[in-house]
Amino acid sequence: MKDTFKHRGLRRQLLLELKEKGIDDQKVLEAINQVPRHLFFLKNFEQFAYEDKAYPIESGQTISQPYTVAFQTMSLEIKPGEKILEIGTGSGYQGAVLSKLGAEVHSIERDEKLFHRTAQLLSELAIPIKCYLGDGTKGLPSQTPFDKIIVTAGAPDLTDALMQQLRVGGKMISPVGDKNVQKMILAKKTSSNNYSYQDLGTFKFVPLIGEHGWKN
Ligand code: SAH
Repeated sequence: MKDTFKHRGLRRQLLLELKEKGIDDQKVLEAINQVPRHLFFLKNFEQFAYEDKAYPIESGQTISQPYTVAFQTMSLEIKPGEKILEIGTGSGYQGAVLSKLGAEVHSIERDEKLFHRTAQLLSELAIPIKCYLGDGTKGLPSQTPFDKIIVTAGAPDLTDALMQQLRVGGKMISPVGDKNVQKMILAKKTSSNNYSYQDLGTFKFVPLIGEHGWKN
């Protein structure tokens, strides 16, 4: 598992591309610069790791596009020490970027194979993310409240059970729509039962499957 001069060069190119597309948060760009995305790839796709595209990982899932990872991260305005819940660990790449920003990351994955593979990879890379196997639509009641929640699979609705696990002043970002295309919704908890919402545009994620998600 190597991060070579060539990989670092490709990463700098990717950063320029992300800047051109509107990612102007220097801390987020620096976090992306610190995560060797190719190490989160399946071997046969590794050469494409620094293209700004989503790619297949195990179990028919995908590693999110770098632009999407940067966009969701930037929208949440992560500060060091914040407690973050991620739904959909997948490859672990998004969680790694959050962790490089100094956040305390808790991440849930429903697919057993991905959970084991990613938990092991993150430990080999010494990236301190707490990984959980289970249905992320129920959140993580034992760890509430969270400063921020990031959903990285497409949900049919903003999941109530998750919003309740935010602290007042906290934010949740989630793609919401049908199984093919979603709107990126940023919700802010303004008081214990009130939220404000922003629609940040159209994105495309694999479906969120679970009790408060799609049934299959
Ligand atoms: N954040 C990931 C994106 C992975 S794709 C990355 O950076 O690579 C979305 C992931 O969400 C898939 O791995 C899928 O298995 C998972 N997922 C879907 N529904 C879920 C649920 N209810 N709970 C936890 N994970 C879920």
